Amino acid sequence: MTQTDWSEVLSPEEYRVCRQSGTERPFTGVLLNESRDGMYICKCCGADLFPSESKFDAGCGWPSFFKQHSDNVGYREDHTHGMHRIEIFCNSCDAHLGHVFPDGPEPTGQRYCVNSVSLTFKGDGVEIKG
Ligand SMILES: [Zn+2]
Repeated sequence: MTQTDWSEVLSPEEYRVCRQSGTERPFTGVLLNESRDGMYICKCCGADLFPSESKFDAGCGWPSFFKQHSDNVGYREDHTHGMHRIEIFCNSCDAHLGHVFPDGPEPTGQRYCVNSVSLTFKGDGVEIKG
């Protein structure tokens, strides 16, 4: 998929966040307060990314998880906006997901701070686009 291909299948907001490393406004994501059992998958390609049991309320305004599913989430250094952060992305399709910070709860101590719009929630008989 080229950037042009993605722009045709994603909404403008999905494209801005997922393919241009944008950030959705805090406390606006559809999946921020989702608490049912299931799996959070990549909006772009459907890869399993975060199990619902790793979701927690970080109070930061974005869906937050303390661990990823398998090794489906990749990491790279991000020096934009005058900060040093670790960007997280989908290993299958390179979609931008958000950032990971070392201030999460046990057992991992990690906080995967993810744009809701990058995710789709799949639960028992439900599928909700973030
Ligand atoms: Zn993906």
